[in-house]
Amino acid sequence: MKIFKAYKFRLYPTKEQEILINKNIGSSRYVYNYFLNRKDERYKESKNNLSLKDMKHELVVLKKELPWLQEVDSMALTNTLDNLDRGYTNYFEKRSAHPTFKKRGCHDSFRTTCIKGEYKNNKYANIIIDLKNKTIKLPKLGIIPIRGYRNLEKDLNIRNATIEKIGLKYYVSLCCEEEINITKSRIIHAVGIDLGVLSLVTTSDGIKYKKLIIKRIEEHIKVYQERLSRCIKNSRNYLKLKNKIARLYQKIKNMRKYYIHEITNDLLRDNELIVCETLKTKEMIEKSYVKSLTKGIVNASFNEIIRQLEYKTKWHNKVLLKVNTYYPSSKLCSHCGTKNEINDLSIRSFECIKCKFLNDRDINASINILDEGIKIAVNKGLIIV
Ligand SMILES: [Zn+2]
Repeated sequence: MKIFKAYKFRLYPTKEQEILINKNIGSSRYVYNYFLNRKDERYKESKNNLSLKDMKHELVVLKKELPWLQEVDSMALTNTLDNLDRGYTNYFEKRSAHPTFKKRGCHDSFRTTCIKGEYKNNKYANIIIDLKNKTIKLPKLGIIPIRGYRNLEKDLNIRNATIEKIGLKYYVSLCCEEEINITKSRIIHAVGIDLGVLSLVTTSDGIKYKKLIIKRIEEHIKVYQERLSRCIKNSRNYLKLKNKIARLYQKIKNMRKYYIHEITNDLLRDNELIVCETLKTKEMIEKSYVKSLTKGIVNASFNEIIRQLEYKTKWHNKVLLKVNTYYPSSKLCSHCGTKNEINDLSIRSFECIKCKFLNDRDINASINILDEGIKIAVNKGLIIV
C-alpha cells in the first residue's frame, strides 16, 4: 500500500535566498487574496463558483500585468489556486466556513510540486535532497543547507515541498510517497484508551498520561504581551517582542506534538490492537467543565492523538478500532456490566450501584472501550477465539 509521510527540516538560506522565499510567500498570499476576492465577486454577480480553470487563465493575464509575479516559483502560485479552490468548494458545499483572507505573519508558507523526468537517459528532478551533505535544491531558490533527521538514510520519493516561515526561522516539509507492506498481524496485547481533559489519555492497563503543564511559558507570553501593548506599533522593540511571542507559541505547539508522539509511540510499542472512542469532541467537551479558552486546545490534542494512531497503526501493521460514539463507556460498570446513571462529571471515581465495584472513572471507561473493541475485532475476524 502507498502512504504519504512528511519530513520536516530546518532551512538555512542565505540572505538572497531568504528574500526570494519571502517573495514566494508574499506572492502566494497576494494571489490567494486576489482570487478569493474574485470568487466572492463572481458569486455575488451570478451565484456560481469561479472555476479552477478560469482562475488559471486569469492568473496568466495577471502575471503579465504584474511582472513581479513572474519572478517567483510558478508552481507555488498554481498550488495556491488549488488550495483556494478546495477551501472554497468546501464552503460552497457547506462543509466548512468561508475562506479568510491571508495576513502577513500568519501561516507564511508556499507549496511547490516536485517534477521528475528523464531526458536522454538522464534523470532530473526540480527538488533534490542530499541527506549526506545535508542540503536541498529547491526550484528558483537553489541549494540550501538543511538540518534534521540525523540518521535518516533512504531514498525519499518527494511529491511536494512546503516552505514555511515561523518567526525568523525557515522550514521545509517534504511530502513523500512510501510503500508499506500489509499483512494480517497477530493480536497479542490489546488496549482501550479513554480521552479526557485532566488525563489526556487513560489506558485500560491503568496508565494515565496527564495533560501537559506549560504554565511557565504561558506566563512568559503574558509578560511579553503586556510589554508589547506598551510599545509603539511596528517599532523595533515591538517587532522584536512579537517575534519572541511567536517563537514561544511555536515552542508550546512543538511540546504538545512531541508529547503526543511519546504517548502514541508508547501505545504502539506495547499493543497490536488499540481501541478508542469515535471523537465527537464538541459535545464531549461541552459536557465537561472546561473553560472556553482551553476547548480548542483539547480539541486539537484529541484529533492529533487519533490522527497519529491512525497512521502509526498502518505503518506498523497494527489495528486501530473505534467504538460507536453512543457507546456509554463512562456509564457501564466494567466489572458486572450494569449501566449506571452518572450526572456529576466532577466525581473522579466510579462506584457501581449493583456490585459496588469501585474504580477510577477514566480507567473504568477505558476497560469498557477495550471490551467493546474486542467484540468488534471478533466480529471482524481480527481475533480468533
Ligand atoms: Zn457492577
